[in-house]
Amino acid sequence: MRLTFLGTSAGVPTRHRNVSALALERENESQWSLFDCGEATQHQILKSRLSLYRLRRIFITHLHGDHLYGLCGLLASRGMLQADAPLELYGPPGLDSFLRHAMELSQLHLPFELRIRELNAGEILDFGPYRIETVALSHSITSYGYVLIEAPRPGRFDPGKARELRIPEGPLYGRLQRGETIRLEDGRVVAPEEVLGPSRPGRRVIVAGDNDRPELFEPYGTVDLMVHEATYTQADFDRLPRKYQHTTARHLGIVAQEMGVAHLVATHISPRYDTEERVRELYREIREHYSGKLEIAHDFMELSV
Ligand SMILES: [Zn+2]
Ligand SMILES: [Zn+2]
Repeated sequence: MRLTFLGTSAGVPTRHRNVSALALERENESQWSLFDCGEATQHQILKSRLSLYRLRRIFITHLHGDHLYGLCGLLASRGMLQADAPLELYGPPGLDSFLRHAMELSQLHLPFELRIRELNAGEILDFGPYRIETVALSHSITSYGYVLIEAPRPGRFDPGKARELRIPEGPLYGRLQRGETIRLEDGRVVAPEEVLGPSRPGRRVIVAGDNDRPELFEPYGTVDLMVHEATYTQADFDRLPRKYQHTTARHLGIVAQEMGVAHLVATHISPRYDTEERVRELYREIREHYSGKLEIAHDFMELSV
């Protein structure tokens, strides 16, 4: 699957970073999902290779404006595209009321069905090949993390074994790969297990909302990817006259190391880190504690899991 960071700034946009939004595309699916929708997310989509027309699901982590205020404009524009496929919208309680009021007062009528579902902490959404678990986080308002957990995947296709069994190359390979049993022209039956390696565990990806306790994800253990805020370095946080409920780079590094996270992406970067050198301070602070693959997100950064 592929993730595209559409907004990586905390609180307010800067010249180089927009506010929170993250796109997720899965292999062999033409539709995609969006996590959070800060103001002007639709502009970011226009500058990416993503199409608003194909957007199918939106997950909102919490109702703070820097994660939410892009929603009405994005929905209105998707309507103008005459997209008629339903759009699913998930988020904490209050999301439905926020949106219904805004849509009613601005007379926004959508040509597609908008399915809004407010989630409770711990709720699990089953999408077939994967599920999404809702984790309650620690922030000044209700904030969720979403953990995407795939079902186990079939093993890797072994072309050597397929040749040994004299299976003709072509569409039969694909059918075996998808787990189908096939019958050859000479009448022999081949089961997928004969040409596939051992089944592989599904991937696990955490997309966290704002949160000052990353250890809340510890039950998920060694995930393939964790996208989590690191709004400040510890030194800057300690100097703040008023503390907001955010995670520091140091805290995130310690927890990610303990969890055994394979790949960590820090995002939701305070506007004070406005030069490459300042961003490196965040990187170095996490690195002091965490030895896995590490990146500080920037807008339009793409990565594969
Ligand atoms: Zn935020
Ligand atoms: Zn927030």
